Amino acid sequence: MKLSILFLIGIMLQSCTQPIKSQNLKAMEQSTTKNNPYYSRTDRTKLNVSNDEWKKILDPDLYAVAREAHTERPGTGKYNNFDGLGEYYCAVCGNHLFRSDAKFASTCGWPSFYEADKEGVIYKRDSSYGMERTEVLCKRCGSHLGHVFNDGPPPTGTRFCMNSVSLDFVPDAKSEAK
Ligand SMILES: [Zn+2]
Repeated sequence: MKLSILFLIGIMLQSCTQPIKSQNLKAMEQSTTKNNPYYSRTDRTKLNVSNDEWKKILDPDLYAVAREAHTERPGTGKYNNFDGLGEYYCAVCGNHLFRSDAKFASTCGWPSFYEADKEGVIYKRDSSYGMERTEVLCKRCGSHLGHVFNDGPPPTGTRFCMNSVSLDFVPDAKSEAK
């Protein structure tokens, strides 16, 4: 009798310690990529898709940031205080943008990186809101990602200040198998 109770408790504990984190990440990934025929993590061919078309495909939160250059509220993004090992891709098109090695703990309230994939991003002067800033866009789909500043840590001194909603994180195979 005692043994079977212990056995039951054992089963319950086991089901509580399943790797919920990676399951959630997979679910997040599926929700952003489903019904998006342009999403690819291997094809780097430039896309020329109208906003009318993106509006039908993207979640409203992502559309507002990526296609209308909105900014998510500081401290609210899913990758702000996140330090998983892996790669960051454009949530709109799947283009590779950042490696987790270049992410650093910034107090600004948005996920920050000191280096971007040179083939992943392009830059544009942004004079909106009475400020002189440099906007960072995805090189493949032209979506707004965030801004870049020159007050970052070594070795580059650069701070890519990104919106979490614009990023898709894919954990390294090793960390996923843990
Ligand atoms: Zn993109």
